[in-house]
Amino acid sequence: MVNAEFTHAGFTTTTISCVSALIGFKHTLLACPMNNAERIIQYLSDNTTGACDDCLSVQLKIKPRQQVNRICRKLQREGKITRGKERCPGRDGLKIVNKLVIKY
Ligand SMILES: [Zn+2]
Repeated sequence: MVNAEFTHAGFTTTTISCVSALIGFKHTLLACPMNNAERIIQYLSDNTTGACDDCLSVQLKIKPRQQVNRICRKLQREGKITRGKERCPGRDGLKIVNKLVIKY
């Protein structure tokens, strides 16, 4: 499953599997910069308690925060993450917390 948005133009010949391959991303072997969606997936795979948009924005330095929101809602539509109101581990109060959907 290769989404056009996750394809790095010009480096489509060789693909390898990285951490996030289990949820369907493919990286190029050459110059493999993770895009923001992949970095969010990576972060959530390391932080299984989840993180809200604010925390993702701060931790991953993705600005503005609205971009995190946009990416996360897209990942949710694709079934890769869930978004639910609960207490974010990193903040006070109820937030929309993103969690990775693990597929076995
Ligand atoms: Zn948070």
